[in-house]
Amino acid sequence: MIASQDIVRCKGCHRPLRTAATIATGFGPICARRQHLVAAGYSSGQITDAIELVELGGVIHLRGTGDRRVYLTVGSKGVVHRTAITGQCNCHAGLIGKRCHHGAAVALYATSAASRTVRVAYPMPPATYIAAA
Ligand SMILES: [Zn+2]
Ligand SMILES: [Zn+2]
Repeated sequence: MIASQDIVRCKGCHRPLRTAATIATGFGPICARRQHLVAAGYSSGQITDAIELVELGGVIHLRGTGDRRVYLTVGSKGVVHRTAITGQCNCHAGLIGKRCHHGAAVALYATSAASRTVRVAYPMPPATYIAAA
């Protein structure tokens, strides 16, 4: 039991931290991942877009394991990109060697609880079929 004056708040979003691990780092799980992405060179706008993409279910594990993982990421206008765990991506920015929010989304997804292996029966997200109809 924690007395109210003992609540430790996240340095990023000021939400109360509840686990020993987050209290030790000073950041909640989402902000810790955000910090990790900032360190990897993503802008805060890209990280916000990436969080949104993951929350909307726009990242799907396509194939591969470890450093060879490849994901499908849904871009604006419903275009589907292929994004590697290493951050390489076949969107416009990715093809000219720039970091894109798809890479950040994949990094987030891979480290989040949501990534617990979900078997996907579709070669592409269902939204693609709807858009093509
Ligand atoms: Zn936070
Ligand atoms: Zn991209």
